[in-house]
Amino acid sequence: MGYGIRIRRNRRRRFRINKRRAVMFLVAVIGIIIGVAAAIGGTVYYIENKPTKLRAEVNAIADIPVITDFVPEKTMERPGEQRKIKYIVIHETGNAGRNADAASHNNYLHTKAGSQKKSWHYTVDDREIYYHIPDNEIAFHAGDGLAQDGGNQNGIGIEMCINPESDYEQTLRNTAKLAAMLLKAYDLPLESLKKHEDFSGKHCPDILLSEGRWDDFVAMVEAELRAE
Ligand SMILES: [Zn+2]
Repeated sequence: MGYGIRIRRNRRRRFRINKRRAVMFLVAVIGIIIGVAAAIGGTVYYIENKPTKLRAEVNAIADIPVITDFVPEKTMERPGEQRKIKYIVIHETGNAGRNADAASHNNYLHTKAGSQKKSWHYTVDDREIYYHIPDNEIAFHAGDGLAQDGGNQNGIGIEMCINPESDYEQTLRNTAKLAAMLLKAYDLPLESLKKHEDFSGKHCPDILLSEGRWDDFVAMVEAELRAE
């Protein structure tokens, strides 16, 4: 009788050992699956978000001068982090003061470079375009922090001047030409043309939206794309 009990105990122990092995095997398999999935996910994310190569520089778009005057790198306005370009984000400066043209906004960005996390890539008025930060670097204009697929993280910010000396209609035409050039340079579809409002809900570009002309502006950009 005592002999029979020992056999049963041995069987029980063997069963316990096998169960532990099975659990360890399962944990190892799950670990490998998670590891492989993470590696694939990481690779896909890397490919989808690989920083865009900067386009060739231009001095003019049609007859509009483009003045490149980059804000110093490694400043609050321009940390220098490269990213993938996914959107063109349209704004208005909201600055209706006299002389609040593209040149004055360029001065403003240079003066405040080290002290504010507010910046954008271009300012356009009715005569010229200032280019402040390289297209493939992040800037802070869309009010959405560094959200993934966000306006700051992946958008090129364009500010349109609304100062009284500037002809707003000409500023719109100049901006449409700039936006079309950028969409083409970075092989982006027309759907990549966005307004600030799309990212943070701010009513911007204010005049364009208030007058219900956003779709007209998109059509202007589309016409420029077709004309090129
Ligand atoms: Zn805005």
